[in-house]
Amino acid sequence: MGWHEVADGVFQRRYNPLDVSVCVVRGSDGLAVVDTRSSPWQADELLADLRELSREPVRWVINTHAHFDHCFGNQRFGPGSDLDVPIYGHVGVPGYLDRYERPLLAGWIARGGEQAKEWLEVVVTPPTELVSGQYSLDLGDRALRMLHLGRGHTDNDLLLHIPGAGAWLLGDVIEESGPPCYGAGCFPLDWPVTVDRLLVLLADGDVLVPGHGRPVGKPFVRAQQEQLAGVAGLIRELHGAGVPAGRAAEAGGDRWPLPVDGLAPAIEAGYAQLSRGERGGAP
Ligand SMILES: [Zn+2]
Repeated sequence: MGWHEVADGVFQRRYNPLDVSVCVVRGSDGLAVVDTRSSPWQADELLADLRELSREPVRWVINTHAHFDHCFGNQRFGPGSDLDVPIYGHVGVPGYLDRYERPLLAGWIARGGEQAKEWLEVVVTPPTELVSGQYSLDLGDRALRMLHLGRGHTDNDLLLHIPGAGAWLLGDVIEESGPPCYGAGCFPLDWPVTVDRLLVLLADGDVLVPGHGRPVGKPFVRAQQEQLAGVAGLIRELHGAGVPAGRAAEAGGDRWPLPVDGLAPAIEAGYAQLSRGERGGAP
């Protein structure tokens, strides 16, 4: 599909498998690459594609979150690689990799088959620069802001803002090519609160690049926030009514605002939070 300049000096390329976004922010001091795909082989393809975009050096990498499809190419950019550039990520990324992504990888390798060859090459490479709250990266003639606005898709989502270009790179906090993805380690009760915080910061004309899919505008984010809030509200209601977790999907019926076959991890995580006495929405 090639590189698409979604805002001034901000590029998106959508890669299969998984229609995952890789973005590049061009500054006068070099290129910042946002997310690295699922394997070193896929990262090599990305590195070749980057040369098609610019002769400028890659100086920084940023991971939007710890899911494998966004960071298992890190080893081609990080310590010991030819590029050896700093990799930025949320302070929660290393722990999340240990809890979820390393066991996932081990399972895929154990399963064997043709695909296992690619997984065997992966050296899980956590970010070298850990961000909590906010951080502003100087690209020379422009800044790239990193913000953690709370838990949601994971506990380590970083939202990236390029103020001069009116552009945001949102990782999987917002998805366009499929419904928002609830998986292991998600926070369904917090997610709509986090997106509410984002909405306050968005300008009407801002371009928002999701981790999967086409760039969207503020109205799309508002609509997705309402769906996320609807899921959280129904989880609270069913839990409060004493409906067991195992029956919640069915009991919600057609009131679920998102396809119910993707909501099992949301129900499980939301029920667990409520059973611990947590309301959700903590930063
Ligand atoms: Zn993800």
